[in-house]
Amino acid sequence: MSLRNWSENIRFESGTLHTPRTLEALQEIVRRSRKVRVLGARHSFNDAAAIDGQVDVDGTQEVTREASWAYVSLEGLDAPVAFDHERGTVTCSGGITYGELCTRMHAEGVALHNTASLPHITVAGACSTATHGSGDSNGNLATAVVGLEIVRADGELKTLNLEEDGEIFEGSVVALGGLGVVTRMTLAMLPAFSMQQYVYEDLPSAALYENFDEIMSGAYSVSLFPDWQEDKVNQVWFKHRTGLMGGSGSGEQAGLEPVDLGLPSELYGAKAAATDLHPVPGLSTEGLTVQMGVPGAWHDRLHHFQIDSTPASGDELQTEYFVPRRHAVPAVQAVEGLRDRFKDMLWISEIRTVAADRLWLSQSYGTPTVGIHFSWRKNWAAVREVMPLVEEALAPFEVRPHWGKLFTMSPEAVQAAYPRLADYKALQRSMDPKGKFRNGYLDRFVFG
Ligand SMILES: Cc1cc2nc3c(=O)[nH]c(=O)nc-3n(C[C@H](O)[C@H](O)[C@H](O)COP(=O)(O)OP(=O)(O)OC[C@H]3O[C@@H](n4cnc5c(N)ncnc54)[C@H](O)[C@@H]3O)c2cc1C
Repeated sequence: MSLRNWSENIRFESGTLHTPRTLEALQEIVRRSRKVRVLGARHSFNDAAAIDGQVDVDGTQEVTREASWAYVSLEGLDAPVAFDHERGTVTCSGGITYGELCTRMHAEGVALHNTASLPHITVAGACSTATHGSGDSNGNLATAVVGLEIVRADGELKTLNLEEDGEIFEGSVVALGGLGVVTRMTLAMLPAFSMQQYVYEDLPSAALYENFDEIMSGAYSVSLFPDWQEDKVNQVWFKHRTGLMGGSGSGEQAGLEPVDLGLPSELYGAKAAATDLHPVPGLSTEGLTVQMGVPGAWHDRLHHFQIDSTPASGDELQTEYFVPRRHAVPAVQAVEGLRDRFKDMLWISEIRTVAADRLWLSQSYGTPTVGIHFSWRKNWAAVREVMPLVEEALAPFEVRPHWGKLFTMSPEAVQAAYPRLADYKALQRSMDPKGKFRNGYLDRFVFG
């Protein structure tokens, strides 16, 4: 079986896969290859990580192959995790997974500000597409990045940091793999903190629309899970930050006392769940982070899926659209208005908030956003038909698609949504004049 992404709808066959063990070996591969693409954990749903090749659910499409095209995995690269407590930063390999990094950080008594739903993705792969969690005050994962080390197209090493490289740095973090191989990343860290997670069931849609801001600001991180079958949100997940967990080296168990948050049994008409729940009705909660207010460490509650869990089967396709926060309610209502067209194609939807940032290609560039996500059953023909309807419904709301998920918006519409796109193109050309790190996806959506 060929190398594929998590959802097995994209094949990575167009070049030779390299797993260099040293930086020098990686630099040599980059120098001698005509095209290079880094593979992270291969959790993107589109061809962002492919040199060539588009969505191909049944694996029958022809893929162009070239001997001088290289896929690179950083899995084997020897790269230690280094903490700088004075500066409040951690430096790690771009290829490390959040699961591994969070575990190392927690043992050191420190934390990240936020995580995605699952810990199995790599730090560089996630930041390259502006992957996010939730929380009104939480920027996406790339907003934690304060330093980068990149192997450029000529094989030379370039370092960039927030303090000295200002604007260029802001264009380099969410870069869709276009600037080079991100080998090392420095991230801002916080003192380790404890959290308690609570789920409420059956929030009436009317109550959501009336109280959207209050509900989304009701905890450090809030997720809404509607399946759009009825006029309600099936589940609301509140992840409350409850306290600090102690200093360096003492993060393991310190501070895990339950805190009485005085939460009511009913909130805006939704009822406190009586047991742990999976967002997809009826699925087992095995592998999910613990709910019901049981205290736990930040990385054991911010993710929806536990670090040592095996992620769901891959039997799904995902899309997600971001709109500025001020459009949240009419945008969600516009999606709800289409529900009869898609509700039977879904596993579940998720609605989250992301704080504004300055990263040129971030979906939250210049504005706080609301992400409206769809986990579709794996029926590509049906998903391909329904995506344009959702996109059309969201078009009046300055919609931006998730760079790592499926969408059918035209390159023109995508490009028009990013005011700094021309700056990114100029930066990409200056670092990679021959287009070694450009792939079909970048050529279509950024340069097309
Ligand atoms: C089950 C599931 C749950 C998900 N949950 C969320 C979620 O909660 N929030 C969210 O926003 N997204 C979510 N996603 C989407 C996912 O986080 C993004 O697609 C993310 O980019 C995947 O990271 P990855 O390590 O798999 O990178 P890949 O998909 O392998 O690569 C992504 C991009 O980064 C580039 N890249 C990777 N590593 C490097 C590097 N070292 N240097 C330069 N370029 C690099 C690749 O070439 C590609 O362009 C989910 C996906 C799945 C499958």
